[in-house]
Amino acid sequence: MTRTPSILIIGAGFGGLGMALELQRAGIESFAIVEKAADLGGVWRENTYPGAACDVPSPLYSWSFEPKSDWPRRYSEQADIHAYIRKVAEKYGLLRKIRFGTEVTDAEFDERQGIWQVRTSDGATLTADVLVPAVGQLSRPALPNIPGIETFAGPSFHSAEWDHGVDLTGKRVACIGTGASAIQYIPEIQPAAGHLTLFQRSAAWVLPRFDTRYSATHHALFKHFPPSRLAERFAIWGVFELLSLALTDLPAIRKPVIALADRHRTQQVPDPVLREKLTPDYQAGCKRGLFSNDYFPALAQPNVTVETTDIEAITPTGIRTADGTEHEADVIIYGTGFKGTEILSPINIYGIGGRKLSDEWSPEGARAYLGMSVPGFPNLFMMYGPNTNLGAGSIIYMLESQARYIRQAVHYLSTRPGRFISARPATEQSWDDWLQKRLKDTPWNFCSSWYRNASGRITNNWPAATAIYRWKTRRFHPTDYDESTAPTPPPDPHPRHDATPHPPTR
Ligand code: NAP
Repeated sequence: MTRTPSILIIGAGFGGLGMALELQRAGIESFAIVEKAADLGGVWRENTYPGAACDVPSPLYSWSFEPKSDWPRRYSEQADIHAYIRKVAEKYGLLRKIRFGTEVTDAEFDERQGIWQVRTSDGATLTADVLVPAVGQLSRPALPNIPGIETFAGPSFHSAEWDHGVDLTGKRVACIGTGASAIQYIPEIQPAAGHLTLFQRSAAWVLPRFDTRYSATHHALFKHFPPSRLAERFAIWGVFELLSLALTDLPAIRKPVIALADRHRTQQVPDPVLREKLTPDYQAGCKRGLFSNDYFPALAQPNVTVETTDIEAITPTGIRTADGTEHEADVIIYGTGFKGTEILSPINIYGIGGRKLSDEWSPEGARAYLGMSVPGFPNLFMMYGPNTNLGAGSIIYMLESQARYIRQAVHYLSTRPGRFISARPATEQSWDDWLQKRLKDTPWNFCSSWYRNASGRITNNWPAATAIYRWKTRRFHPTDYDESTAPTPPPDPHPRHDATPHPPTR
């Protein structure tokens, strides 16, 4: 007997939609997506700051089965990526599968019936056989813990919550943070600002960005001669695999990459005092390497100050640094990143015996077999879970590996109605041992970043080439999982091949 499980996906970004596309392409329709916002797109909906773009070229940063031959440029801007996601979702009829404006607050595994009971902020309860959280690692902006932050009298906002109503023309703008987001908006806002002060705690490793605007000839070639498009995708993938290996297995590759970054800085920052400030004092690769051709030139403009003294406090009129200087500002912009290590937070997830996932992961931090399955949390498979983020490369490639794997798990469960599975503790432990052994020698250990939590554990990054992850997830092995039977599986009033998980009950 077979019965396709019902699947509830949380999140309609690249992860959740990628899972849905994989299921649908395999002929599985018994899924629904819940999305807390009113639109799809995840980080590509949220991050609308000036200059928002992807620093992974689009031929690779796109679904392999939905290539687009007419990207305007190699490094796409946010609006183009968001439009691409929407177009693909529409093409596959996914919009009718998404319940927008629905935030999941709790998910509890009911082991008697072998189903997930999922509560939402509007008071509804959804049920499903399989739960696939796809909430990303960068969906919760982090504001810094600086004394007086609430006292600032002018407008202030986080890069992921850009206030487009604030006109920066002629204003004294204070920017905190020098990560992948800041490096994109600083060159955009610098020309309009009266004065821009960049508060830099750590200098970034910056590489040149080999961007190009695709011409009509490119578009025609990519469309009518697909091998050309595939060749570009493959070449980009190869470069990022090499960068991944530089971070992990082949540290010798770091040397030429560091030389390229050093040369880029020397060429772009002629002033030795400024160049000294912009020279990182930590291992290359420890924080995310950045790609930009206009960041350094923007910082060299006369209306910019790079301030490297620590921030002591935020005051009603600006920022006070540890040397006692008051830096007056009209606007403060926080490019201070995300709560990346708090994976799945703030959703409360309860597994077998009412165990809470955040307690299981405390205090060391998040971990999961293949980044997807946690012992004692049956039929739960995470997209973009622990240790599946990349120091270099396209996360969509990783998400596709996960979606294929989870689709196989769903197939397996369809042959086992009423049964549920979660990673065997020993399997998960040996997976984690392998990860930790590899993580030990990566540069990520030698500075603080959103890849590491307070306990020092690297909870986010994948310590190998993406091809290795694809290989390890290529096949679902039931022997890696504990399997149980629900004593009283729920009656099945709704045909499981129908669209949605069981309808909401109150
Ligand atoms: P981030 O990389 O975490 O950078 C946060 C910045 O804020 C860092 O420079 C950090 O300094 C600084 N900061 C935090 N608290 C501070 C404080 N109290 N005082 C002074 N400075 C403080 O955040 P992000 O730039 O938003 O990027 C996050 C991730 O999003 C990236 O790593 C990347 O994965 C993703 N992203 C990707 C793209 C893309 O093009 N694909 C674009 C944007 C973002 P320290 O370094 O000293 O901690």
